[in-house]
Amino acid sequence: MRMLMRLRVRGTVQGVGFRPFVYRRATALALGGFVRNEAGGVLIEVEGLETELSEFRSALCEHPPPLCRIDTVEVVSMEPSARGDEPGRFTIAQSSDGGGPGYTIGPDSAACEECLAEVEEPSNRRHRYAFTNCTNCGPRYTIVRTVPYDRSGTTMSGFEMCPRCAGEYEDPGDRRFHAQPNACGECGPRLRFTYASGGILCEADDAVEEAAVALRSGRILAVKGLGGYHIAADATDELAVAELRRRKARDEKPFALMVAGIDVARRLCVLDAVTIELLLSPRRPIVLAPRRRAAAVASGIAPGLVELGLMLPYTPLHHLLCERVGRPLVMTSGNLSDDPIVHEDDDAFERLGTVVDGMLFHDRAIHVRCDDSVLRVAGGRRQLLRRSRGYVPEGIPLPGGAGRAVVAVGAELKSTVCLATDGILVPSQHLGDLGHLEAYEAFLQAITHLSRLFGVEPALVAHDLHPEFLSTKYAIDSGFETVAVQHHHAHVASCMVDHGRTAKVLGIAFDGLGLGTDGTLWGGEFLVADLREFERVGHLAPIALPGGTSAIREPWRMAVAWARAAAGSACAQKLGRSLDPRSDRVLAILERGAQPTTTSAGRLFDAVAALLGVRGKAGYEGQAAAELEALAHGVEYERTDCYPAGSSRSEGMLVLDPAPLIATVIEEVSKGASREAVAAGFHRGLATATALAAARLAEENHLDTTVLTGGVFQNVLFSRWVEETLVAEGLRVLVHRDIPPNDGGISIGQAAVAANR
Ligand code: ZN
Ligand code: ZN
Ligand code: FE
Repeated sequence: MRMLMRLRVRGTVQGVGFRPFVYRRATALALGGFVRNEAGGVLIEVEGLETELSEFRSALCEHPPPLCRIDTVEVVSMEPSARGDEPGRFTIAQSSDGGGPGYTIGPDSAACEECLAEVEEPSNRRHRYAFTNCTNCGPRYTIVRTVPYDRSGTTMSGFEMCPRCAGEYEDPGDRRFHAQPNACGECGPRLRFTYASGGILCEADDAVEEAAVALRSGRILAVKGLGGYHIAADATDELAVAELRRRKARDEKPFALMVAGIDVARRLCVLDAVTIELLLSPRRPIVLAPRRRAAAVASGIAPGLVELGLMLPYTPLHHLLCERVGRPLVMTSGNLSDDPIVHEDDDAFERLGTVVDGMLFHDRAIHVRCDDSVLRVAGGRRQLLRRSRGYVPEGIPLPGGAGRAVVAVGAELKSTVCLATDGILVPSQHLGDLGHLEAYEAFLQAITHLSRLFGVEPALVAHDLHPEFLSTKYAIDSGFETVAVQHHHAHVASCMVDHGRTAKVLGIAFDGLGLGTDGTLWGGEFLVADLREFERVGHLAPIALPGGTSAIREPWRMAVAWARAAAGSACAQKLGRSLDPRSDRVLAILERGAQPTTTSAGRLFDAVAALLGVRGKAGYEGQAAAELEALAHGVEYERTDCYPAGSSRSEGMLVLDPAPLIATVIEEVSKGASREAVAAGFHRGLATATALAAARLAEENHLDTTVLTGGVFQNVLFSRWVEETLVAEGLRVLVHRDIPPNDGGISIGQAAVAANR
């Protein structure tokens, strides 16, 4: 019997070769009908015999194109139409603008093997063409202006396809059938190279050649990539890297490296199977991996750290450049200090002009700036630290209720925003620190752009409790109904989302600073929480925060406060004077009392780093703590002392007191113990005390599952030791995987809580 079947497919199904795939399946089965993109996904109507239709339906979900992800297929069977379609003809129809909300645009994807082979083949018409792509690879999210996903809605709209490209685009048997960014050297975007002093010097492949020569001779270049500009330099050139540090002033963050292939990566870092898989994945993130002692890169790449951030080339341009330079390249975000990555050409000339000697750029506009994503692998498990290019705008299933549409605006540093709609969460790319005007503009753009792409009319805006965060002010001024979500509750919720969990957990939220419900700054919290609500059941002992947030960049201030609490004023005075000339003044303020206090674990790590002389001033938040971790890394667990901590009850809450830990640190340092041993002893002591406190609280609250969240759990050593102790205590431990444990995950937690209220 002839039947008509209508299928609505949702998931990552636009821009990934899904329609041609459907076309091929349908024609193979001699079915009539059409497939078309709609704002909610893809709509298919097929007409034919019942047996063929059911075969078609099951074929859809088997072996879909590599970048495609089908989440749901809604099927309606109907009477055959009298629409007069020629029987047996199947077409790819024009997109319609209607349809409900949905997620349809895929993330940007690294050049596929077939495209790269063409770029390398001298007889191919795309030989050395830097913008080669197909339906299985290439730019997506960063070039999309509007949905449905069609060339006219992307930054490729201004390039008219030449007859040969148009032929590929229209041929259902071709790999480029309906590949929206399809292009070749004749009709597509063009590369240019120019020295910063001005004038277009050369184009196309000559531009790559000239850029490679410049890099090899120690020049610093801006290179336009998928989501923004990188600043590139020869990573093996001490002088070039030192000069880049000098020009980027104030910035002490480690530089990421791009290497030509896995073999080169192996010579620089120790790589396990998971790391290799991530490096090679089409998402092509930066992966942090333990550096080899003999790694042949300049000393200024990642000073004081045990890891290097590596990535492999992800556009044909990167491949061509890496191959020509033949050395690892520094590929750091093109920005000044903490500004968002530069993505517009005028901006690049204006703002990077003083940093670089030349620019390798092109005329395909980047609509959405998108930094590289960053991951780390610890104990064979991945953990995302920055969720951006290659991941965004992929959705994450929302555990619990699919309530009203929510926009969550995140925190302040490492800002992201997140939509909740129809049972999914859609986090934005990394936006930067909102205190920077550029980042704030990116924040506003992300909210409107994502809402438009996903057809979401937000009913509810979720925000942090902190009234001074620009994100909070935006939420209050938005005029929409708002929900305030406590910072550490959002951290715990984000990890629950990562594991699809709704039932109550004992959350350990250790981070820098977040405003608590009592008006003080929290950061070392034990919370009994689910996706609706939380109860604070324990915390680190509060300590004065001398100088407020200036303590973030000046860990010596926390060292003075903790030394005073642990060993008395006289000792704090002596130690303080060796750290900073202003310490007497800080101590006097502490003596007067009435300082704001914090329970922050991040600031505790800072204090120990300063006491050990690792670092009294930080170039970026968490730098001192990261270097303290690096010190402790070489020490074996069995040979590490477990420094003691105190614990007591106050107002029904468990208070974990680090003062005895600090006292031991001071004592050991004065006895001349090695800094490595003291750093490790502190890590082990705090980890053990934290885990045991959590185990007690879990038992009291009849919970068997714990969550480790907050920026402090980016510390691999601390994280591992807490987890091991919890597991030994018989508890289940959830750690972050695909959602960052730092404030980049806050908007996701906020959205989940707001949607579940
Ligand atoms: Zn391809
Ligand atoms: Zn062409
Ligand atoms: Fe936080």
